[in-house]
Amino acid sequence: MDLRAPFGRIDPDRCGCDAEPGALMPVDEALARGLALVDPVARCESVPLFRATGRVLAEPVRAALPLPPFDNAAMDGYALRLSDLAGPGPWTLPVGARMRAGDPPCPLPDGAACRILTGAALPTGADAVVAQEDTARANETIRLDRRPAPGQHIRRAGDDLAAGEDVVPAGRLIGPREAGAIAAAGVARVRVRARLRAAVLCTGSELVPPGQPLAPGQIWDANAAILAAALDQPWIDRTDLGAVPDDPEALAKALVAACAQTNLVITTGGVSVGDEDHMARLFTEAGGVIHVMKIAMKPGKPLTIGRLGRTLWLGLPGNPVAAFVTWTVIGARLAEAMVGIAPTIPRKTLARLAAPLRHRPGRCEYRPARVLGYCAQGTQMIECLEAPGSHRVALLVRAEGLALIPAEAEAMSAGALVEFLPFGTAHRKDT
Ligand code: AMP
Ligand code: MG
Repeated sequence: MDLRAPFGRIDPDRCGCDAEPGALMPVDEALARGLALVDPVARCESVPLFRATGRVLAEPVRAALPLPPFDNAAMDGYALRLSDLAGPGPWTLPVGARMRAGDPPCPLPDGAACRILTGAALPTGADAVVAQEDTARANETIRLDRRPAPGQHIRRAGDDLAAGEDVVPAGRLIGPREAGAIAAAGVARVRVRARLRAAVLCTGSELVPPGQPLAPGQIWDANAAILAAALDQPWIDRTDLGAVPDDPEALAKALVAACAQTNLVITTGGVSVGDEDHMARLFTEAGGVIHVMKIAMKPGKPLTIGRLGRTLWLGLPGNPVAAFVTWTVIGARLAEAMVGIAPTIPRKTLARLAAPLRHRPGRCEYRPARVLGYCAQGTQMIECLEAPGSHRVALLVRAEGLALIPAEAEAMSAGALVEFLPFGTAHRKDT
């Protein structure tokens, strides 16, 4: 089954929101404009491989030697020279040498086999390894009944990678696979991008840090925690600036100071159309230029993106679900681009709706959804959670991803294919 067919436009870089919803900016365009504003972190540093986990490789790591560096045995057994097996079998050969992993290669004695252990260098002159279980050993001789194939059970030098090839390309986040390949190539230090300096500032006179008592009318600040968790990455150097009340003077001071100190300033709240939504005006008054606002996404319409000097400002909406969704869909992409992370796998998959749904056309909607399992054709089945609302932060905990309802859709039937953005791979169930 071709999962692309029903859409004809599945592209991990596009959001699926391609309707023209009047004055609103399509999500794709908001993302593209945001990416065009990115001024990548240029500074690099050299760090020990063992301290490089989660950092972004700034330049490719090259293999100085082939990988593996020498021909070696893939099995415990006996290395031999095929020309020593004259006539029809069975053949008997004396065991004339012994090679363990780590021993320097030795020549294979004429007319003899060499006892060899996995990973040991192949004796010069040997052209096959016979597995121990395919031989019968008596005293210092082995007997074999079947002629080995040339090159059998030999791992050739360079069969993983040739000398001079890239072991890991630039732009990779260093995880276990990358670290293993870099170490296998003998490289102990890597050049990585300097950490992205990001500041998080929440706005709202109603906000109280969790752990402190609430006065009437106040709420606990959820966004600072959402963004602290989202930005808790080895490639980000995050500053938590806490919450600032809706006082234009205090907000302007905090915003300008944050922009002066970091590459990326993320604020939440104060970007909508209410009387106390001051952020866009304050940003402009401080000399910033706004490039993105009023997005055709739900939640997330008030998302505002601008630049002040070399600093990118992301004004996320105040509602926690909207802050989370706009960060996930757009903010994270911009942050990754700022340190040159080259995405390797599509973020989105396709999934089928388990139940019909209705949607008001106009904005691309990101609905919290749960994965139910797989249909007979192997496509994921998802269930959109009931009555989403951009304040329902607890609902997000029950979701496993966001289903993208295209802007133009009015009703979608059960079984319809939608794009699905899973939250991550941690804590997945086995089935
Ligand atoms: P705003 O975008 O500032 O108008 O905020 C929209 C809604 O989100 C309001 O109900 C706010 O009280 C709520 N809100 C704003 N910031 C936060 C936050 N940091 N944590 C939890 N709720 C918030
Ligand atoms: Mg507010």
